[in-house]
Amino acid sequence: MMTMLPFIIDIERNMIKKTNDIIRPANLGKRCVIITGTNTKKIAGQKLYNELKKEYETDIVISVSNEKKELGSFAKNLEPYDFLLGVGGGKIMDITKYSAYLTGKPWISFPTVLSHDGIVSSRASLSDNGTKTSIEAKGPIAILADYDILKEAPMRWMISGVADLISNYSAVEDWRLASNAGKEKYDELCAGLSLTAANACVAEMKNIIRKNYEGVKTLLEALVLSGFAMNLFGSSRPSSGSEHNFAHALEMMNAPGLHGEQCGLGTIISSYLQKKNWVKIREYLKNFGAPTKASEIGITDEQAISALVQAPKIRSRYTILNRYDIDRELAREILEKVGVI
Ligand SMILES: [Zn+2]
Repeated sequence: MMTMLPFIIDIERNMIKKTNDIIRPANLGKRCVIITGTNTKKIAGQKLYNELKKEYETDIVISVSNEKKELGSFAKNLEPYDFLLGVGGGKIMDITKYSAYLTGKPWISFPTVLSHDGIVSSRASLSDNGTKTSIEAKGPIAILADYDILKEAPMRWMISGVADLISNYSAVEDWRLASNAGKEKYDELCAGLSLTAANACVAEMKNIIRKNYEGVKTLLEALVLSGFAMNLFGSSRPSSGSEHNFAHALEMMNAPGLHGEQCGLGTIISSYLQKKNWVKIREYLKNFGAPTKASEIGITDEQAISALVQAPKIRSRYTILNRYDIDRELAREILEKVGVI
């Protein structure tokens, strides 16, 4: 499938009022449907609806389920529309991009929170009979963000987005290891995009923490870049390695914490196993205010140990975990060494 960049990635104050002017030249058609959630409708969905209906026959639908089999009929109801607009966080984006994929319609991403790199990636994280799976979907044709809305989103979610980007360091290192082991081809450009996203975040730490325009813009662009590295490569490899295995293992046992927070913990562990500068990674996370200890987000020692033991079995992707034989005893030792437990 051809990878396309969005025709516009823009963050501005009062973006809702500017949306019609921005998307008009794209000639998307007459009918538009906004897909949003109960809370995000209040935050942005309703205002966007009021604006879009001045120019398009617009409807607004609330979607709650990201269960893959339910999305088939959900998408069928979207057939009459010319384009879709997803307004919300990661879950709404996953639902919108998968619906866009099923219906073949273009979609616009209007994030209300910057908590992970799923806002641009063409893959959707959906529930398949209760199990989270990554499914082929479709990237947005435009990403429009309202600074005034994003800066009101809880800091914890933003910092989780940062931690998801910091995890690119260990993801790319795992990729390099896989390439050296002759398991997979390394792509210099995609790896470079992924690392640039992480570097940009670290470089703009002060602004991100202050949530000023520069900081929020950097975070948005870095998440877009990270997502695009995955789209361009055709899998999540550039931004997802063993640290994501650890996070996915936690998620599967319904351990607490946001995706990025769990990935951040995983990055400390992976960097240590990779013999990279894990102390620096931990320092970055700490300085951003991201958790560096499992207990900070309510994950028990037992859950962390089990997740690390499970991590190599989560998927077939070659990572540093393939070079260790981690049993419970070794897992505890590693986690204690890096201070995660
Ligand atoms: Zn992630």
